[in-house]
Amino acid sequence: LLLSLTLVSSYAAAQDFDGSDVPKEKHNYQSDVARLRKIVINRQPLLPQVSRATRPTLPGSLTPNVRDIFLRELVSNANDALEKFRLTALKDKSIWDGAEPLNITIKAIKDEDGKGGRVVISDTGIGMTPDELTTNLGTLAKSGTSDFLDQAESGDATGTGNLIGAFGLGFYSSFLVADRVYVASISPKSEKNPNPSQNVFSSSADDSSFEIFPDPRGNTLGSHGTEITLYLKDDAAEYLDTDKLQALVNKHSSYSSTFPIYLSVRES
Ligand code: ADP
Ligand code: MG
Repeated sequence: LLLSLTLVSSYAAAQDFDGSDVPKEKHNYQSDVARLRKIVINRQPLLPQVSRATRPTLPGSLTPNVRDIFLRELVSNANDALEKFRLTALKDKSIWDGAEPLNITIKAIKDEDGKGGRVVISDTGIGMTPDELTTNLGTLAKSGTSDFLDQAESGDATGTGNLIGAFGLGFYSSFLVADRVYVASISPKSEKNPNPSQNVFSSSADDSSFEIFPDPRGNTLGSHGTEITLYLKDDAAEYLDTDKLQALVNKHSSYSSTFPIYLSVRES
């Protein structure tokens, strides 16, 4: 276990992914993903929320909420990507000098109006090529998916909440808290990826498709890594609270992450 939560004092200003002329490739989600996203997005307000009266007293801002799982899922993906990078680097020494840090950073960035904002989770792991962004995030290769979908589509809201917890929504749990998600990623140079470039997967909660395009910001992630930007739903602003994020990281990820996790906050 190597968990470290430190305040990072500064980082580059966020830039918009939109409003640029880069050609955007549109893809439809595979049908199982479309079904899963519908369950997550449409049933989300029905997920069990423990009422204030019956809520057990828990430390700090940590209250049981099915939506909380998004952070555990994204940190676990970042951890997997870092592990994959480390294993790849053992075989191909040219991609890592052993000194460059392998870590995870979580940033909470509040909008200027103080209402909403975004949570950005980045890792210096193996990253994804444009093809991998399309395949890994646009299709679902998980056993038990169709059983889960059948049950979730026919079950009641409470049952769905429990099912979601048991099934593990992975990356799609992002849409429990975000109405738009951007995944910027770059995969290290290799035989199958001779000219690495940073690309973006973009999807909103109400689209049935996603887009892949070259990152209009250029290369911000170095030679490998992934950055997930969650534009929070209006009712999910609680995740801009660093105490809440820290409590969630400690609760879910401290035992499962092998790499340091940094948490930073900045206004605007
Ligand atoms: P699972 O982790 O069970 O495979 P997920 O939905 O969580 O399912 O993620 C789907 C896939 O997307 C992962 O298997 C991985 O290939 C890719 N992926 C997700 N997050 C990252 C990341 N941070 N870095 C690299 N690849 C990622
Ligand atoms: Mg996962």
